[in-house]
Amino acid sequence: MSNNVKRIEAPDAQLFAGQTVMVTGAGAGIGRQLALDLASLGAELVLLGRTQAKLEAVDDEIRQAGGKAAVVCPCDLATLDEEQAEKIAEGIDLECGKLDALVHNAGILGPRAPIANVKLADWAQVMQVNLTAPYLLTRALLPVLRAGTRPRILFTSSGVARPGRAYWGPYAVSKAGTENLCEVLAAELTDTESIRVNCVNPGATRTAMRAAAYPAEDPATLPAVEEKIPAYRWLLADHAEPQSGAVYHL
Ligand code: NDP
Repeated sequence: MSNNVKRIEAPDAQLFAGQTVMVTGAGAGIGRQLALDLASLGAELVLLGRTQAKLEAVDDEIRQAGGKAAVVCPCDLATLDEEQAEKIAEGIDLECGKLDALVHNAGILGPRAPIANVKLADWAQVMQVNLTAPYLLTRALLPVLRAGTRPRILFTSSGVARPGRAYWGPYAVSKAGTENLCEVLAAELTDTESIRVNCVNPGATRTAMRAAAYPAEDPATLPAVEEKIPAYRWLLADHAEPQSGAVYHL
């Protein structure tokens, strides 16, 4: 499903006041900018990523700008297992008592090659980081999300997911799986809970991942991460009314 996404261009300074939001891959790229933006609008952030120094730098920036100190959660999603996911959920419960929104943003590109040439180890790593880790985190975090205000889960897809694009290997397959996970979860939660579950495809954005995927491209021709944030605000604001189970293409 593709939908018309709305944008919050001129947010109220307190748009996310009182909200606790976890962003994965918060140390760089889209996740970093999103974390800074939500914190500037009053949210308490849980910053998850694999490089602690990058997360601490984002936390420093948040506090220097007058935001609430973040919960820094260093975690390599490539090795995340059930036990670690449960520990993360317990930590958030102890520190924050609830989670209002969970943004599965972290991702890796993996090998861009014909499927015939993709090694099992590379396939498995991309599936683990892009698909299995969001499943594990979601499952572990559902109880703290249920304690939140109109909870939201946002997965991240890509334009190469559907239809699956040749030579994008496990990345394309993992993103199609992510869209399906979003749909399955949203359908399961529809009648019983108020949790909204959606998926966003940010579209071409000037980040390290995009540069790795398109080395010959001039980054100056691409939208900066800041340009995508107003749509993310709308997808995450508790009063906004995106559908549930949808894939929003920015
Ligand atoms: P970046 O590569 O710039 O940032 C990815 C972030 O994910 C980094 O902070 C990185 O941490 C983190 N990360 C990667 N692997 C792991 C891991 N094993 N454990 C924990 N954290 C990890 O990517 P973008 O900002 O470009 O992409 C964000 C999302 O948007 C991704 O899901 C991507 O697939 C999707 N997307 C991006 C598009 C684009 O044009 N940029 C287009 C379509 C989709 P660290 O910094 O420590 O490496």
